Amino acid sequence: MEKSLPNSAKVVVIGGGVAGCSVAYHLAKFGWKDTILLERDQLTSGTTWHAAGLVGQLGATATITKLRKYSLNLYKELEIKTGLSTGLKQNGSVTVASSKARLQELLRQATAAQLFDVNVEVVDQKKIKELYPVINNEDLYGGVYIPNDGQADPVGVTNVLAKAAKMEGAQIFEKTPVKKILVKDGRIIGVETEFGKIDCEYVVLATGMWSRQIGEDIGVSIPLYPNEHFYIITEPINDLPKNLPVLRDYNNCLYLKEDAGKMLVGIFEPNAKNAFKDKGIVPDDFSFGEFPDDFDHFEPYLEKSFYRLPFLEKAGVRKFFSGPESFTPDTQYLLGETAEVKNLYTCCGFNSIGIVSSGGAGRVTAEWMINGYMTEDLYSLDIKRFQKFHSSKKFIMERVTETLGDLYGMHWPYKQHQTSRNQKLLPYHEELKNAGACFGQSGEYERPMWFALDNSKPEYEYSFNYQNWYPSVAHECKNTLENVGLYDLSPFSKYDLKGEKVYEELQRLCTANIKNEIGKCTYTHMLNEAGGIETDLTVICLDKNYYRIVSSAAV
Ligand SMILES: Cc1cc2nc3c(=O)[nH]c(=O)nc-3n(C[C@H](O)[C@H](O)[C@H](O)COP(=O)(O)OP(=O)(O)OC[C@H]3O[C@@H](n4cnc5c(N)ncnc54)[C@H](O)[C@@H]3O)c2cc1C
Repeated sequence: MEKSLPNSAKVVVIGGGVAGCSVAYHLAKFGWKDTILLERDQLTSGTTWHAAGLVGQLGATATITKLRKYSLNLYKELEIKTGLSTGLKQNGSVTVASSKARLQELLRQATAAQLFDVNVEVVDQKKIKELYPVINNEDLYGGVYIPNDGQADPVGVTNVLAKAAKMEGAQIFEKTPVKKILVKDGRIIGVETEFGKIDCEYVVLATGMWSRQIGEDIGVSIPLYPNEHFYIITEPINDLPKNLPVLRDYNNCLYLKEDAGKMLVGIFEPNAKNAFKDKGIVPDDFSFGEFPDDFDHFEPYLEKSFYRLPFLEKAGVRKFFSGPESFTPDTQYLLGETAEVKNLYTCCGFNSIGIVSSGGAGRVTAEWMINGYMTEDLYSLDIKRFQKFHSSKKFIMERVTETLGDLYGMHWPYKQHQTSRNQKLLPYHEELKNAGACFGQSGEYERPMWFALDNSKPEYEYSFNYQNWYPSVAHECKNTLENVGLYDLSPFSKYDLKGEKVYEELQRLCTANIKNEIGKCTYTHMLNEAGGIETDLTVICLDKNYYRIVSSAAV
């Protein structure tokens, strides 16, 4: 098949799902018109086509809430601009809490959402029944109602973004798989397709669940892996109230949406199932694909849905759906430039909230590329937070069985993952254990977070309030002040800088006066181009113009 692809472009966006189309739109809108998007098959043929289409604004973190709110407004705005429909229906959402801790978390998230003018109402048990008359509310402590939330058609959203991208000057080519990303001297120089080579300055990987494999080909670590994600659609239900809000019941791992007289019931369970488990590889030709039913896996959660919405027990199941979606080691997206290749950006790893996230994620990706640095606090989403081991199959395939459930799990402060542990042990791990260490994972290491006192159990008792380990830390601080303490910095990231101008550059970048004396160390902030704080770290002078930077402990 012949195709007239350009020989060169400023940016090649790879992947025509909702994320890639959003990046292409924003780049072109912000002035980088010479942007082309290459899609292996058809737009939406990866994960996007089968999404449930929930568009809720409240995220686990303030950063994510901000991006989600932007997406919702963008989709409305682009409907007008393009004349196409996203199928957006703003029937609101109700999220309920059947434990006190859950209510506390919802209230915290609602407070953060107000920063971005998201209209969130805190509702009690009675009000929940008014908003959702068919709910069993007897065990509920309360919840939150977001009147402007809703649902959309994922294919409609993608088509709207694609048309808007073209209207801004970007070009989109379907049936054009990228065979190879071309890198020279650690920098992007182009891509190769079966229709020829395209020289380019930048590549954006918006390749969803394929991204880990594509990165691996060129030595770039992209830690994500797909799980099977399940929902069912019932037969039409008589007398089902119309325009019910979307219902989220995090304690029971459920989301429920009314759709044209039927109900869609989806789950985020704590014991997720890897997709493509046998080989650990996403096939190149997987398009508009789904997996066979696994009713045994789904059934416990279906039972829970019967408790919450008793009328479901009598409803027949019209469709059981299982499709792949990629998850990351910490249930946060992967954005920004990769550590390994200059001008290679990622916009992937959406952990099942890609439809509602992509508007915002596309905007910040475009801004990041055009400015050369992030223009708002996106550290929690920056792909550079991860290291090589995070994308090894051994680590990521096990970890994502946990992180799918974390989407609806409690987002406790200091929460430690249970999976993919014991990757790297300190040589005296057993001694630490015998001394009562409670371990956490940091930079691949099992690291003692604190030591239990008085033979108590070295285990976190998670809470948003007083932490059970505060007395241990008080004890350590006092002991270090009055006696002596030994701190192992193995899990911390270290960078050695050598060269003629190292001292001069450090003085330019750091707020403290860097000690230029062998063996001396300086604790300091390091700044970015805008004078904002990038991080705090320790700079040690090892020799003349030879410094070691020890930055904070890695993920
Ligand atoms: C069952 C289910 C329900 C969901 N429900 C919701 C929901 O209610 N709300 C929500 O916000 N999210 C939901 N999601 C998540 C959402 O669907 C995804 O997060 C989102 O679609 C990811 O979009 P993407 O563009 O990153 O990936 P994709 O849609 O997979 O796009 C990646 C594209 O890259 C292309 N590609 C890959 N390799 C190449 C190559 N070498 N060359 C060129 N192109 C390539 C693929 O063909 C594909 O089209 C759901 C997911 C599932 C599985």
